[in-house]
Amino acid sequence: MFKSDYEIKKELCEVGKKIYNDGFVAANDGNFSVQIDENTYFVTPTGVSKGFMTPDMICKVDGQGNLKESNGPWKPSSEFKMHLKVYQKRPDVKAVVHAHPPIATSFAIAGIPLDKLIMPEAIIFLGAVPIAQYGTPSTMEIPESLEPYLQDYDAILLANHGALSFGCDLNTAFFRMESTEFYAKLLFYARMLGGEKEIPCGEVKKLVELRKQFGVPGKHPMEKLCPGCYAGDDTCAMSPTEANEKYGMETSAAYHGFQPLPSQVCPAPQNKDLESLVAEVTKKVLEQYNK
Ligand SMILES: [Zn+2]
Repeated sequence: MFKSDYEIKKELCEVGKKIYNDGFVAANDGNFSVQIDENTYFVTPTGVSKGFMTPDMICKVDGQGNLKESNGPWKPSSEFKMHLKVYQKRPDVKAVVHAHPPIATSFAIAGIPLDKLIMPEAIIFLGAVPIAQYGTPSTMEIPESLEPYLQDYDAILLANHGALSFGCDLNTAFFRMESTEFYAKLLFYARMLGGEKEIPCGEVKKLVELRKQFGVPGKHPMEKLCPGCYAGDDTCAMSPTEANEKYGMETSAAYHGFQPLPSQVCPAPQNKDLESLVAEVTKKVLEQYNK
């Protein structure tokens, strides 16, 4: 569906209001963008509360982040570099949202990834949320810290900073931010009540199948979660955390996102179909058994 520049700018303002009213940012924090084509993006301005933007403040920039049209006093967010990294590495992504939702950000500050498989909706629609290494805002440190996670995740916590989510359109990206915060809240409450109980691997596998049936866009790490399950054991009753311990990091690629520089540990297969993935995982599992 064709949307005029004005309509896109208006949508960015509406999402800004939601993010601000939800308490996902304070003062002038946060930034988000939409990709129009390879060399055209709309980005929120710096130094403005995202809850009070008007369409004229939204900046139109090129693939280097330079203004394509002069825009009065409004300058694009200096964090746009971080967005560009996502667009470059994930051609399926057309919108990126960065905010500081308080509970998810607290997990990012405590260094606790959102990697426990605790509820069906989060597994189906969000996956898991790893933590990227700390970097100085507005430098290339943050974009680089994202690299290891971009092929398997649609939301990433930024250590001691906040969260980043992305998707095939602005609403999808925003909903993933909302889901990340909701998931963090549930995990926080569950821990106050004595700790979460994870959904067993065999059940997680069924949820991942459902996700496929629903045609949920984006990436999901769970296919690689438990090599046993994905090699054919539908009755696997281990928790994903136990599976990770049993099979170790190399085969349990879902957890690679939660280790420093995981890409060095586990070269995540990209663009591979499930069958070749299963074959590969089975081979690795057998290797483990034969050790
Ligand atoms: Zn930030």
